[in-house]
Amino acid sequence: MTMKIVHLPQPFQRRWQTLPLRLRGTLIILIPITCLFTALSAFAWLKASLVEDETWVQHTQVVRLETKHLLNALIDAETGVRGYGLTQRDEFLEPYNNALMIIPTAVDSLEQLVQDNPQQTVRMQVIRSLVDENLAIFQQKITLQHDLKRIRGQADLLVPAASLYDWLEEGKATMDAARIEIDRFAQTEEELLIARRLHQDFYRQITWVALCISGAIGALGSLFAVHLFYHLERELAKRENHLRETNQRLETVCDQLQRFTANASHELRAPLAAVMSNAQVGLMALNDLEEDPRPLRQKLEKIVNQTKQMGALVSELLFLARHEGLLALDSLKLVDLKPFLSNLLNDWSPQVKAHQLSLTHQFPVATVMVNADTSLLRQAIANLLSNACRYTPAGGAIELRLLTEGRQALIQVEDTGIGIPTEALPHVFERFYRVDSKRSRASGGFGLGLAITQQIVQAHGGQISVSSIPGQGSTFQIAIPLTSINVNSAPVNSALVNSAPINSAPVNSAIVYKRTEFEN
Ligand code: ADP
Repeated sequence: MTMKIVHLPQPFQRRWQTLPLRLRGTLIILIPITCLFTALSAFAWLKASLVEDETWVQHTQVVRLETKHLLNALIDAETGVRGYGLTQRDEFLEPYNNALMIIPTAVDSLEQLVQDNPQQTVRMQVIRSLVDENLAIFQQKITLQHDLKRIRGQADLLVPAASLYDWLEEGKATMDAARIEIDRFAQTEEELLIARRLHQDFYRQITWVALCISGAIGALGSLFAVHLFYHLERELAKRENHLRETNQRLETVCDQLQRFTANASHELRAPLAAVMSNAQVGLMALNDLEEDPRPLRQKLEKIVNQTKQMGALVSELLFLARHEGLLALDSLKLVDLKPFLSNLLNDWSPQVKAHQLSLTHQFPVATVMVNADTSLLRQAIANLLSNACRYTPAGGAIELRLLTEGRQALIQVEDTGIGIPTEALPHVFERFYRVDSKRSRASGGFGLGLAITQQIVQAHGGQISVSSIPGQGSTFQIAIPLTSINVNSAPVNSALVNSAPINSAPVNSAIVYKRTEFEN
């Protein structure tokens, strides 16, 4: 299935692409979430309105019912009084008496129910006074009938038609007024009920419309978010391609540069050797001269020294150019680091002695096996020992330690020399970096020794690190992976002898070492 790409408007696309990725991601997620929240809020608000309307409708219905009760009770009272007046029989007073009990409660209840409606409250006051007036008239009429009955002493004697008519007509206007007022009151409530029902219906429709709209917006928002995600994905893929291409270009340039350095270094070696041999021949020829050969000798000796230095530099550059990247597996062989380092120490012993320094070592009892190119590893450790000799004043000490930590062999070279300032530590492995160019030049370094050491260690899949305290000394540590033989064997510190204190920080203090003093 292929997705059709819909292009966003150009200005929007440009603005969109300038936003940071995190912001774009947040916006994309926010779109459907906002739609959902808006829909939910609208729905909740409409639902609340509907519930409120429902309450009002029920309230109005209660008022209507109560009004009906009041009107019926009033009519019952009037009918009862009329019946009594016409028949003089007491059973007609029963509806009247019942109505007397209902009417006050109904009036009170109605007043209570409409107290939040000022118009209806006023109307209720009028109704109350009219009802009271009617009740008073009813009472008066009944009393009149009672009196008549008592005076005549004949309860069933009919009253003359003319006076009965007057009696019946009395209070009719008040009753009509009460009825009209109650009707009006009921009418208003009826209108309110209709209005509230209309309102309710309206809100019900609005709820549906709002739900449909927010559902549609939510769906559109989600589609838009998916669309933006799709754009983002395409852009990321584009960037990835661009990065890959740039990387390839850089790799090609690096290869070319490496080849150029290697070739240039190689080509420089031959003329340098020629200059050197010619200068040396010149030096030998000086012996045959009759005039004072000293000025000429000095010049030739300078040429020899400079050429030696340039030769060393060219060799180091050639080395760096040749040994880039991880070593090929067939160039590695299984090395037991203990005898390997012991041999190295033996080779270095005279040089250390010449610098009037002491050389000690700490090795574990168990074997420490690694896969290494021995000549390269020798060169790396030799560089560290050379630096330790050069940057440690006479009378100082150098210690070579071998230990294991996890799946790594650690080789540490510690000296009590001048140390390295903290701000220089991150740079010492950079090519041509020298802490103090004057000091290094005096000791003949180009600032490539540690870069070469790092390159060798990295070619073995390891890391090099340094810790140093200016004025107290430095410790360089090479960590290279152990072979599986070591990893599966017993812990190296299981049978160690001759414990000795360790005076530098980054040493695994849980391991005790065999220590041998080379010299003091
Ligand atoms: P160089 O050939 O100049 O010694 P390196 O790459 O070997 O170059 O070392 C880089 C810099 O690190 C040196 O110039 C020196 O200042 C400092 N350095 C290296 N080893 C030590 C050490 N053991 N003690 C003090 N400074 C050191």
